[in-house]
Amino acid sequence: MYNPKSLKAEEFIDNQEVLDTLAYAEECKDNMEVIDSIIEKAKLRKGLTHREASVLLACENPEKIKEIYDLAEQIKKDFYGNRIVMFAPLYLSNYCVNGCVYCPYHHQNCNIQRKKLTQEEIKKEVIALQDMGHKRLALECGEDPVNNPIDYVLESIKTIYSIKHKNGAIRRVNVNIAATTVENYRKLKDAGIGTYILFQETYHKESYLKLHPTGPKHDYAYHTEAMDRAMEGGIDDVGLGVLFGLELYKYEFAALLMHAEHLEAAWGVGPHTISVPRIKKADDIDPSAFDNSISDETFCKIAACIRVAVPYTGMIISTRESEEVRAEIIRLGVSQISGASRTSVGGYTEEERPHDTEQFDVSDQRTLDEVVRWLMETGYIPSFCTACYREGRTGDRFMELCKSGQILNCCHPNALMTLKEFLMDYATEETVKIGEKLIAEEIEKIPNPRVKEIAINNLSSIKNGSRDFRF
Ligand code: SAM
Repeated sequence: MYNPKSLKAEEFIDNQEVLDTLAYAEECKDNMEVIDSIIEKAKLRKGLTHREASVLLACENPEKIKEIYDLAEQIKKDFYGNRIVMFAPLYLSNYCVNGCVYCPYHHQNCNIQRKKLTQEEIKKEVIALQDMGHKRLALECGEDPVNNPIDYVLESIKTIYSIKHKNGAIRRVNVNIAATTVENYRKLKDAGIGTYILFQETYHKESYLKLHPTGPKHDYAYHTEAMDRAMEGGIDDVGLGVLFGLELYKYEFAALLMHAEHLEAAWGVGPHTISVPRIKKADDIDPSAFDNSISDETFCKIAACIRVAVPYTGMIISTRESEEVRAEIIRLGVSQISGASRTSVGGYTEEERPHDTEQFDVSDQRTLDEVVRWLMETGYIPSFCTACYREGRTGDRFMELCKSGQILNCCHPNALMTLKEFLMDYATEETVKIGEKLIAEEIEKIPNPRVKEIAINNLSSIKNGSRDFRF
């Protein structure tokens, strides 16, 4: 029985409720009265239910799709402005005991070299990331209780936060490790992590069991209930995601929103972020073996529908996607992107992009400086801000900031100050030129005169060598 408040996976992701939702969406997709009323509700910017959002996703009327896209773009602008938060993944270890059939780390794959970074190697990787200008990382790790126990992850987080190379610092470490216990989530919280990210891969239980035939990840309920344990352990910023291509996208979309509704119903706070990875080619993995791959067009439609359904949730896109797709999907709702990523263990200290331990092929292979410049040229402010969780604005407190319309007095100046740091320390001449012009224009948009004055003073302090200001 469907129950969003339940802590049982099969009750908050009730298969019958997903199927009924899809049937309802099919039934309503040509009913313009229903579509219009859902779009009107979405305009209130308070979100949509999984059923309502599924109707929009099913709709094939070009005029209505354009309306949905325009609304997604507007909601994105209203809640997130033109800031795009930057991050990079850091792969600690590709040892893994699971048998995930889409992932090259699966434990039967003898082609890839198994590698686990020592603390000394992590230090080198972090210095390389700091030298690019990164301030925010997403830690990635295979599941292996012997090779990658929680103590190894905790020690690595400590190492990462301790490294201060030149003006560099990693100020926020998000963590993407396998589902674990409440006790371990509490340890991660105490280690000062930002978001705990875990992709569901697929919400379809039958497929999930086939796609994860062996290892601890085979346990559908344990994996699906991970965010509840994370919340119980005190982590109130959690990041959801589906690996698109594994199952039918409409099923995943409805279930993903049900998961978000569940977190809101059970814990009073929805997901901090939603990631939308698509399956990619990798060693031992041919994406065409998975017959639910989606076109770029459908992918963008999913992003637009997520944006209007959960306006307060950040959306993340990785370098799995090309520059073209990233441009379109940023317009429609994405608020965070990775840049200059290497998806191999130890990849950042290699001159050439290594492929021997890579998790998947990277489509966008530009440098961070190039991505930053590109964002600015297309009208965005690349932001290296990490202020929220450091100021205790996690969970619903971050949402409150969003809802209160204080973004322009808080996130906006933070974005400009961290961009200024990037320009001073890491950017090429051309990027500096474009960036300085952008900052001068954007600083004028801060509504509160006192905040504006402080931000202007901070910008000149940054020019004179000070770092790490935040509202
Ligand atoms: N081991 C952790 C777990 O069990 O969830 C997560 C870390 S894994 C390095 C990060 C994510 O990469 C996975 O959750 C999966 O969605 C994604 N991934 C795996 N294989 C992929 C592929 N071939 N293409 C794109 N993404 C992939």
